[in-house]
Amino acid sequence: MLEIFSSIQGEGLLIGWRQIFIRLAHCNLCCNYCDTPVRPQDTCRVETAPGAGSFFGLANPVSLEVLSTLVADWLTRLPGGHHSISITGGEPLIQDRLLREWLPVLRGLLPVHLETNGTLPEAFKPLAAHVDWVSMDIKLTSQTGVPTPWLEHERFLALAASRDCCVKAVVGEDTPMEEIFQAAELVRRIAPRAPLILQPRTLGGRVPMTAASLLRLQEQAARVHPRVRVIPQTHTFMGLL
Ligand code: SF4
Repeated sequence: MLEIFSSIQGEGLLIGWRQIFIRLAHCNLCCNYCDTPVRPQDTCRVETAPGAGSFFGLANPVSLEVLSTLVADWLTRLPGGHHSISITGGEPLIQDRLLREWLPVLRGLLPVHLETNGTLPEAFKPLAAHVDWVSMDIKLTSQTGVPTPWLEHERFLALAASRDCCVKAVVGEDTPMEEIFQAAELVRRIAPRAPLILQPRTLGGRVPMTAASLLRLQEQAARVHPRVRVIPQTHTFMGLL
């Protein structure tokens, strides 16, 4: 585990809710724009109190008992303050065995939100029943620099559709319309109730994309799948973790 902290969700369907974030190490992808540390560490950074912004180190691997005691303590310190637990990464589903043990216990404390790149359907299958919300990505080649794993995304979305789920695609000025059509078509076909969230890429705390380009992508995607929303990464603007 890399870190545990309390903050406001800055992306996607649960934007604005305060969550306890549990960040796991490792990722199976290598996106061009990735700014998330994913390498395993000897110690996990733990916020000294919810929202304190200061941290102490806990030796890895952190046991479920220690983790659940910490979360329960934060819930006591801040009654009603947290909406859910966000399991994030890296790619959390790489540690699916660990999550099989953790999620039922954590979900006994707060509902669980899973943030994933949407490429590991087999790992997700046994965990689906222990997750309340799924935020999955469609990794577009124009932004990641690697071919979009369309088949894996489709198989993942078919499973995620059984939960409250949204699909996020990071877009930029150079995102071709065909990619957006393909992403929108996939969501419409496999999970018609799920919103497709276009997230303009953030660079140095700014969205360098023009409003006209964003609107054009939204219009074209909405022709295929009417549930299209445009939401940038808001936590970066607010100086939140
Ligand atoms: S999937 Fe996420 S964590 Fe993994 S490389 Fe891409 S942006 Fe980084």
